[in-house]
Amino acid sequence: MIIAGNWKMNCLKNDATILVNELIKEDAFFKESEVIIFPSYLLIPHIYPQIYSTNIKLGAQDCSISGHGAFTGQVSTEMIIDAGCEYVILGHSERRLLCKETSEDVSKKFLKSFSLGLNTIICIGENLKDRENNTYLSVLKKQIKMSLSNFEKFDFYSSNNKLIIAYEPVWAIGTGKVATSENIIEVHEFIKKFIKDYFKTNIDIPVIYGGSVNEENSSEIFKINNVDGVLVGGASLKADSFLKIIENSI
Ligand code: PEP
Repeated sequence: MIIAGNWKMNCLKNDATILVNELIKEDAFFKESEVIIFPSYLLIPHIYPQIYSTNIKLGAQDCSISGHGAFTGQVSTEMIIDAGCEYVILGHSERRLLCKETSEDVSKKFLKSFSLGLNTIICIGENLKDRENNTYLSVLKKQIKMSLSNFEKFDFYSSNNKLIIAYEPVWAIGTGKVATSENIIEVHEFIKKFIKDYFKTNIDIPVIYGGSVNEENSSEIFKINNVDGVLVGGASLKADSFLKIIENSI
C-alpha cells in the first residue's frame, strides 16, 4: 500500500523535525508499505538528512514545467531530484483551484517529472456539482486524458519510476466527508480500465484515494477493492494519526 502524506503549506523546521522523529521511531514496520511525505520545498533539505537512511521517502508538492531560467518563484524537477526527492504530486485540486492550473499544465509537468525519473502522483477529482449532476465520470476521464496527453505510448515495462493516480473528490478534501465504498470502487475501476485501454496495456497502475482519510476510516478504505493506497492531508500532520493509518494498511 502507498501511504502519502501531503503536508501542504504547514510546519516550520522545528515542527517538521519533531514530526519526522516520531515517525522514524516506527521505521521498521514501514518496510511493508510505501510511505512518502511531501513537505514544503523549503523543508525538503532540512528533512532529507533525517530520513535518508530510513524507509520514509520524500516528495515535492509540485514542480515547474521548465528546467531552469527566468521563472521567478518556481522550482524545477532537477532541483527536486537534487534535493533528494523520489516523488512529486501534480495537479492537486488546490493548485487547480487556487493557481488556475489546468490538466494541460499537468501534462507538461508530467512529461518532465516522469522523463527525469520521478514517481509521479497525478491528482484528479470531481467537484460537488459534477457529482450531483452525474457528470463526474466524464470530468475524470477528461482530466486523465489531458494529463497524459504528452504520452502517446507509455513504456510501463522499462521505466523504473511509477505513475500513480490519486482519486481525490474535491468535495471530500478537508471536509470530513469521505466518499462511500461504492463511489471509490466505481471510480478506481474506471481509472484503471481507462489507462489500460488508453495505453493498450494490461498493466494495473496504482490508484490511491484521498479525501478526509484518517486513523478511524482508513482500515475500511484499505479493504476496498482496487485501492492501492491513500493520499492524506490533515491527518499526516499528526504523528499518531499518520502512524495509525500506516499500521492499518498492513
Ligand atoms: C489532500 O489535500 O490531498 C487531502 C486528501 O487532504 P485531507 O486528507 O485533509 O482531506
